[in-house]
Amino acid sequence: MAQTAVIGAGFVGLSTAWHLMRDGHTVTLYDPVGAAGGASFGNAGTFATYACIPVNNPSVFRDIPHFLLDARSPFRLRLAYLPQLAPWLARFLLHSTAARSQHTSRALAQLLARAQAGYDAMLQAPGLAQFVRPRECLYLYSSSRAFAQSQADLALRQTLGVVLDVLERDQVQALEPNLSPIFERGVLFRGSWYLSDPGGFLQTLQTDLQGRGLRVVQSAVTHLRPGPREVVVDCTDGTQRFDQVALCAGAYSRALAAQCGDAIPLDTERGYHLLYPNTSALIQRPVGWAERGFYMTPMARGIRVAGSVELAGLKPDKHAGLLKLLEHSSQRALPGLPAATEPWLGFRPTLPDGLPVIGHSRASQRVVYAFGHQHIGLTLGGVTGSLVADLVGGRTPGLDLTPFAPGRFG
Ligand SMILES: Cc1cc2nc3c(=O)[nH]c(=O)nc-3n(C[C@H](O)[C@H](O)[C@H](O)COP(=O)(O)OP(=O)(O)OC[C@H]3O[C@@H](n4cnc5c(N)ncnc54)[C@H](O)[C@@H]3O)c2cc1C
Repeated sequence: MAQTAVIGAGFVGLSTAWHLMRDGHTVTLYDPVGAAGGASFGNAGTFATYACIPVNNPSVFRDIPHFLLDARSPFRLRLAYLPQLAPWLARFLLHSTAARSQHTSRALAQLLARAQAGYDAMLQAPGLAQFVRPRECLYLYSSSRAFAQSQADLALRQTLGVVLDVLERDQVQALEPNLSPIFERGVLFRGSWYLSDPGGFLQTLQTDLQGRGLRVVQSAVTHLRPGPREVVVDCTDGTQRFDQVALCAGAYSRALAAQCGDAIPLDTERGYHLLYPNTSALIQRPVGWAERGFYMTPMARGIRVAGSVELAGLKPDKHAGLLKLLEHSSQRALPGLPAATEPWLGFRPTLPDGLPVIGHSRASQRVVYAFGHQHIGLTLGGVTGSLVADLVGGRTPGLDLTPFAPGRFG
């Protein structure tokens, strides 16, 4: 069995640690913040096996004027970041054509079809099942036009195996009577569920793994040096050597991959959340509002409103306008909500083609990359961990990993 290191303690890293330990490997987990210190802490909590349509699809071209000019658009691009972002953005737009976007959807659907299996055994770990809420996600449209425009996406989802029910206005109201009656149509995604506290879930998982031998180093990895017989890992606390290393540092993975010789065009789609404490009884399930780009999820501490996309890099400053929009939009959707608290910003790791990177570093079979899960890293953490364990163990994964190859960008 191998001495392995996992870099990053989000959904991808901790799931990878779980799968590696199940195979009998020894695992050291590095993270300067600890469990769920990144995007995994503050997401909308949905296990979204229906989410095979990437943001970069042909509707992007239709929606650009709305994105740039409408104050109600949940999308923002920071002009000062544009020079740095330009190469990524150009590729992102290139991948928004119908053919490329469908390639992404098909590849995502392959992963999503295995997402539940990636978590099934893990969910038996002590204390984890209590976080799982078996309530399906409801996605809403406040205008008939937006619903009409979503028909191609819904049809593609169904072709790719997603089971959904389309609801009329009165059926939406019957399911969620506290919602404002502004929603023309809804879509209920069968088989989806959510977590009542994504951060709590990961902390519980890490505690269980530590009880079974996981070593946690709470510091940042500064250098990765793959060699023929080992990988040298430098962190702020010293140096260690491993047989195999899995790089799962989400939006922060780019620089470490570059040290292994791979120039991977990873950037970030920033997203936000707000909390309405003690309001969870107002809705029964995660409720999304398509036109405003967010979910309201009834979590353990209250309704969490999470969403928006801001292209502005890894700086920690928050966009006050997007937070206001999230607050106003959620209060419009659910009139009983009080003032929002605990604004949070997180960094979704996103490649220009909307697909994660899962595969060996080109420089070394001893380094495996697993990052770039954009809007669905919670959903895909388990299956990604199992694929990394296949690669570390020298097994052929039961899925063609070509679409996720680190070298696909040339
Ligand atoms: C607003 C919002 C809503 C979302 N909603 C959903 C949802 O409903 N469902 C869903 O499936 N997904 C959702 N997502 C996406 C999901 O949260 C991410 O895809 C996922 O968290 C990525 O997980 P990760 O483990 O790759 O990265 P992260 O969770 O970001 O973890 C990376 C970790 O690496 C650590 N790290 C960074 N640098 C180093 C270093 N040098 N050394 C060691 N460690 C390092 C960080 O501290 C961090 O803990 C949402 C995201 C956002 C922002």
